[in-house]
Amino acid sequence: MKIAILPGDGIGPEIVAEAVKVLGALDLHFETETAPVGGAAYEAHGHPLPESTLKLAREADAILFGAVGDWKYDKLDRPLRPEQAILGLRKNLGLFANFRPAICYEQLVDASSLKPELIAGLDILIIRELTGDIYFGQPRGRRTAADGHFPGAEEAFDTMRYSRPEIERIAHVAFQAARKRSKKVTSVDKANVLETFQFWKDVVTEVHQEYPDVALEHMYVDNAAMQLVKAPKAFDVIVTGNMFGDILSDEASMLTGSIGMLPSASLNSRKQGLYEPSHGSAPDIAGKGVANPLATILSAAMLLRFSLDQEEAAQRIETAVQKVLAQGLRTPDIWSDGTTKVGTAQMGDAVVKALAG
Ligand code: NAD
Repeated sequence: MKIAILPGDGIGPEIVAEAVKVLGALDLHFETETAPVGGAAYEAHGHPLPESTLKLAREADAILFGAVGDWKYDKLDRPLRPEQAILGLRKNLGLFANFRPAICYEQLVDASSLKPELIAGLDILIIRELTGDIYFGQPRGRRTAADGHFPGAEEAFDTMRYSRPEIERIAHVAFQAARKRSKKVTSVDKANVLETFQFWKDVVTEVHQEYPDVALEHMYVDNAAMQLVKAPKAFDVIVTGNMFGDILSDEASMLTGSIGMLPSASLNSRKQGLYEPSHGSAPDIAGKGVANPLATILSAAMLLRFSLDQEEAAQRIETAVQKVLAQGLRTPDIWSDGTTKVGTAQMGDAVVKALAG
């Protein structure tokens, strides 16, 4: 087994170093190889996703990714900007299924802006289709309007589309994930207005015939956005398209109140995956040794679970993270009165120690 380590920019190298430390403390055999990505790769090779990095990513069973981006690259042409590396990896590896868990740890219940009783014990999984929908549909562009409210005016347009196989494969992923949880899937659509999402709903309903043990409900995206803040614990697995998933997964991540705690995984049909924290490169705190490494450490746990089939090792990491939180250790982003403030490396060391204990 081979893991490609792509630390990236900003706090990326600091948080990835802690996750690598934790992986190294387990009794597992795998190879790791590190390569630059994002701004770091642009500096070294003139491109955010150089051929050598892409080759390593293709050959690896899994990729542990930090974060990319820095404001200093904002003036570069779009294809050279650090964020293009993520899009390039998704496209080249066919990473169509994005897993974003939103878990509220008992010890951090006060970090949320919602009432504790609404989010205590929250554990939902958003599965977002990642390679289709209006983000990738063609044609798109600018033109002179031939009709509509203002014929002859300048207009812009995008194309929302989903093919049957694209919907079928993400629906299978969702139903299979639900089987390992509380066997309930909410499929989020906008079937009342959009043809694409009426089709989505029809295909998800068909695929559901193969999973009679899993309950399926359909919900319009506007209602889902409301229910996520009204009664988030009513959800278990949410499956939805690229654009709705983009928005709802960020909304769900904020339920827990702490972006530094949230892992993510993007998988292809061969179980090869890219694992990264849900947050960005945080250039404002880079190099200060204060970034929270737990989202990256929990991403490493997802990597073991989904790409390396090491469920037990994944659970060991997750339990160790809960232990350090129970010990009262907190990086500044999740610190509150009565807890102990620690830095990035101290947090990583504490997780390693908790693995042993
Ligand atoms: P961000 O997620 O990097 O930071 C938002 C805020 O959260 C900042 O105040 C930051 O200090 C804090 N924060 C984030 N992660 C943290 C952690 N682990 N510990 C403690 N605090 C943390 O988002 P942004 O500031 O909007 O973007 C910064 C850069 O990151 C931009 O260049 C953006 O394009 C890029 N970005 C990259 C990714 C990615 O690599 N997947 C995702 C989002 C943003």
